[in-house]
Amino acid sequence: MTNTSWHDRAAELKFDGRAFINGQRVAAQSGATFDCISPVDGRKLVDVARCDAIDIDTAVTAARMAFEDRRWAGLAPAVRKRIMIKFADLLLQHKDELALLETLDMGKPIKYSRSVDVPSAANCIRWYGEAIDKIYDEIAPTPDTALALITREPVGVVAAIVPWNYPMLMASWKIAPALAVGNSVVLKPSEKSPLSALRMAEIALEAGIPPGVFNVVPGYGHEAGSALALHMDVDCIGFTGSTRIGKQIMQYAGQSNLKRVWTELGGKSPNIVCADCPDLDAAVHAAVGSIYFNQGESCNAPSRLFVEESIREQFIAKALALVPNFQPGDPLNEATEMGAIVDHIQMDSVLGFITSGKTEGAQLLAGGQRVRTETGGYYIEPTLFNNVNSTMKIAREEIFGPVLSVFGFTDLNEAIRQANASAFGLQAAVWTSDIRKAHQTARTLRVGTVHVNQYNDDDITVPFGGYKQSGNGRDKSLHAFDKYTELKTIWISIT
Ligand code: NAD
Repeated sequence: MTNTSWHDRAAELKFDGRAFINGQRVAAQSGATFDCISPVDGRKLVDVARCDAIDIDTAVTAARMAFEDRRWAGLAPAVRKRIMIKFADLLLQHKDELALLETLDMGKPIKYSRSVDVPSAANCIRWYGEAIDKIYDEIAPTPDTALALITREPVGVVAAIVPWNYPMLMASWKIAPALAVGNSVVLKPSEKSPLSALRMAEIALEAGIPPGVFNVVPGYGHEAGSALALHMDVDCIGFTGSTRIGKQIMQYAGQSNLKRVWTELGGKSPNIVCADCPDLDAAVHAAVGSIYFNQGESCNAPSRLFVEESIREQFIAKALALVPNFQPGDPLNEATEMGAIVDHIQMDSVLGFITSGKTEGAQLLAGGQRVRTETGGYYIEPTLFNNVNSTMKIAREEIFGPVLSVFGFTDLNEAIRQANASAFGLQAAVWTSDIRKAHQTARTLRVGTVHVNQYNDDDITVPFGGYKQSGNGRDKSLHAFDKYTELKTIWISIT
């Protein structure tokens, strides 16, 4: 596939921004729309339905009816499994189209939307589909006179509210386990990247997921999102997004029907490199590659790099040699490693953090500028600050952009203390040849995932989520079923 042909295909792509409710594409009932702008070149792609409380109510009612008549929950797990596997297969058949939608809507390189986002989303749907006919209910150890069954039931109507950084994948982490166990779902994608989720819903219908079971309502957070989170007939919310909005979602649940709320929120992940790191080049590649991957718009990006003083200079020299590989390029060019920032609001926010880093005295060693302005799109250079200290704004707040902050340390315990001195607790890494040091550090870090001598391993089989203000839930793995099921006890007299 050549560069030109991705542009040609993008020019031919059909966009549909209407909501997907009860198996049909529909406009918002008010007729309102908002512009879907591509960060690649600032071009308007399509008008998107600006759903509000009325559309949310229609979608929740459709989801409730589908749940109550058991058109999906009532199917044998083996049947739901076949349909979900078909859904995954169809996603892969539409890989190029979905990858293009993802790249045009959100700005990530086509190379990664094709090789990561679409296949990982399909794999997630397939994995939960395959799992669902292997989950057994339990019998409690009770006296001879009675039998106590412990069963799992779907919670009912699940609202999934997701961000824009991995639009299909974040949606899949919610909808796959929720649908597999028999729930109905109303998904609200981010207003910054709604197109792939809407297309996914059409593909789910084609695979055999009945109308009303999987609905997608695009719209703004303060309109569609809050209406969904406040709705009295939603039983559970799977929310991925910022910590600020996560707190609001929990309040909405308290103000309405105490629906279950699962949150997967922000991060400020520390990456600790000790002088006895077994492979310095691997550590440098991981540190640089992981912060600039997806333009730094990853919740688990290792944005705080702690390097032991004795190797700091060498480490930074090696890192700076890699930085140019991530110079932003045309997202539709297959050679591009780093693409566009999702929109001008996020771009301005990242540039504001860079300005604050400079003002507060951090040493800017690379990047820091907006580039490719002639394209009309939103691009920021890979940026690296040295001599960051923990009082600076860039050290404390989530930037969610291609900005790496380097701290030095001489005492590992002090580095761990600083790593833990964060409101967030999503992910961390430690690099050392000393197994005791590695293990002790892994145990002391207050985060959901610790990597030892690596940063990138990830798999659908392992839980993903955070401590502290990084959220209270775990996506992925069989544990995600706990979020979308109720445990019911049934006592049966057998005397
Ligand atoms: P955001 O919180 O602004 O928005 C997330 C979603 O919530 C969007 O769909 C948005 O429309 C909606 N929303 C906004 N205001 C709302 C309201 N008042 N009521 C209901 N819904 C509302 O986050 P974002 O900018 O889209 O995403 C970036 C954030 O997501 C970062 O903080 C990142 O770390 C986090 N994230 C976390 C994970 C994880 O697994 N922990 C994964 C990806 C992203």
